[in-house]
Amino acid sequence: MTSIFSRIIRGEMPAERLFETEHELAFLDRHPKAPGHTLVVPKLEVAAFDALPPERAASLAATLQTVARGVTRAMGTGHYNLVLNNGERAGQVVFHVHFHIIPRYEGDPFLERGSSRSLPEVAAGIRAALRALPQSERVPGRVPED
Ligand code: 5GP
Repeated sequence: MTSIFSRIIRGEMPAERLFETEHELAFLDRHPKAPGHTLVVPKLEVAAFDALPPERAASLAATLQTVARGVTRAMGTGHYNLVLNNGERAGQVVFHVHFHIIPRYEGDPFLERGSSRSLPEVAAGIRAALRALPQSERVPGRVPED
């Protein structure tokens, strides 16, 4: 069955898209655990991280670095959790590999859901930070228009 993330990748479902490479897409989590909570997914629909071809795992890691730079610069914190839930007992709900980038803040609002800023506003800030990254700090990819 097609995953919800494949539908987002194909543009059939709305999402705040942040960065796209040939093989990956980054977009905001629609239920953020903290402001700026971002998901980075391979376009290849695979449920388990260890089932990804090694070259796709490698490009996913490189894209994660680029997106983490954009997220941390936009959100004003260099602190974040990088989380991958693999399998139902590990908390995986969407069976399409995805890393969470969850920014962490002073006086941590980690356990609060949501943010006073709207998802479109947060997304625009992250896209601007990604556009501002020098070429040396980003993998080849596209930042969608606001
Ligand atoms: P998991 O527990 O599988 O690691 O996390 C799945 C994540 O995907 C959750 O944080 C959830 O909020 C997010 N999510 C689920 N459905 C959608 C969706 O349709 N759009 C977006 N942007 N995020 C989603």
